[in-house]
Amino acid sequence: MPHVTLKEITEQWPVIQAEVREKFELLDLTYSTWIAPLRPFSLKEKTFVISFPNDSDNEDSASFITLHLTKKYSVCFQIVLEELFHDSFEIVFTIAPENRDHVLFKKQPEEKDLLSSYSTTKLNPRYTFDEFVVGKNNQYAHAAAISVADKPGMEFNPLLIYGGPGLGKTHLMNSIASYIKNNYPEKNVIYMTSEDFTNQIVTTLQKRNQDSINYHRNLYRDVDALLIDDIQFIIGKESTEDFFFHAFNYLYENKKQIVLSSDRPPKDYANLEERLRSRFTSGLTVGISFPDYETRMAILERKEATSGYSVDNEILRYIANHIKSNIRDLEGALNKIHFYSRLHPNTTITPEIAKSVLIDYINPDEDTLTPEQIVNAVADHFGIRPQDITSKKQNRDVVYPRQITIYLLRLLLGDLTLQKIGEFVGGKDHTTISYSYERISKMISSDESVRSTVELLKKKLKN
Ligand code: ADP
Ligand code: MG
Repeated sequence: MPHVTLKEITEQWPVIQAEVREKFELLDLTYSTWIAPLRPFSLKEKTFVISFPNDSDNEDSASFITLHLTKKYSVCFQIVLEELFHDSFEIVFTIAPENRDHVLFKKQPEEKDLLSSYSTTKLNPRYTFDEFVVGKNNQYAHAAAISVADKPGMEFNPLLIYGGPGLGKTHLMNSIASYIKNNYPEKNVIYMTSEDFTNQIVTTLQKRNQDSINYHRNLYRDVDALLIDDIQFIIGKESTEDFFFHAFNYLYENKKQIVLSSDRPPKDYANLEERLRSRFTSGLTVGISFPDYETRMAILERKEATSGYSVDNEILRYIANHIKSNIRDLEGALNKIHFYSRLHPNTTITPEIAKSVLIDYINPDEDTLTPEQIVNAVADHFGIRPQDITSKKQNRDVVYPRQITIYLLRLLLGDLTLQKIGEFVGGKDHTTISYSYERISKMISSDESVRSTVELLKKKLKN
């Protein structure tokens, strides 16, 4: 990999700041005080100097500032840079008289490059297809994203990806945009959030003149692919909806690719104009749901590998077992462990330490389900004895409940290995266990009564 230049870091600076903020969960005030004012200053060998603007000549405060920054944030920047550029840097903070770049960063883009400013600065280089772990929860969204990236405007138009927070929508959208850019350099790709879209319109409308409005209406003329993230935020904003409708129709009629993401399926929008709803759903709508244990582990392992972290497997399993509904939190927990170990290089992270480090993510007193509880619940449901399930018996009224048990053990207690489950249910080998699991998985999708039995048991066990 060629050496990273100051220019490259500067181009990615907003992304780097955002990553530091998100990864280390900085409060707004902390971020705006300490991180937002920072600018890349110089890069020599592997020493990266970051400047903080000074507004006083007080040397004491200057040294306090650099000391504080070094103590609190140098490792944060190191981690983020390592991840983005696969290279390690020594971070030095300095106080710079007047920040040379300050103006540059603040400058509002001219109208003519309004769009091109969105086409490069907004993409996070970490969010690519290569870094996206495919699981049962996102395989359709992933497949649709690939096919749209490969043949923009040809296959699924618009593509609407929906799913709860932290499940990978932005990652997929960025992957599509980067892929098109890399493979079809002649194509004009715009990725923006619906907030960017709205802000643009507000700026346009403030000008209060028809030229500016017409200009905006034509803004999307040369775009080949428009990706708008978190489209739910434009809903109910009347004039924004109107501009959006306009842009949408133009692109759609000209067979330009549109990709939208949303935190919920379109049917759940109470007051979405009908004309928009029907357009949203006129192409392909795909959901991303919660990742299962295996996918969660795979994401943690991938993350560990790409970031060069080295975290004990037991701790990865602890994280994967407890953080189930948000991949951002999953990564956040891993980052926190990594961050801790960077700050305490001579400490081995035991499960006890991990628990206390992750206290904001995982409630350590949270009742964790035991295999016995699962067996008891299933036995109770089918009116048999728990010992029957854990015995070697093969009669029919035991085999099916046992398979249900195996399914639930595997689903709900991700850290149990196939072997362990096998031992637990009467000494079966691991192929029997995976066979039973697959069988029940298939039956759930084909047989309503199996599905409702499993749902019922899951509900019982969650309380
Ligand atoms: P959303 O936009 O749905 O709220 P993001 O795309 O921002 O979620 O994802 C949150 C974090 O989780 C990001 O850091 C992203 O890289 C990561 N992530 C989400 N899904 C996956 C996946 N399938 N594989 C790897 N990382 C993922
Ligand atoms: Mg997002």
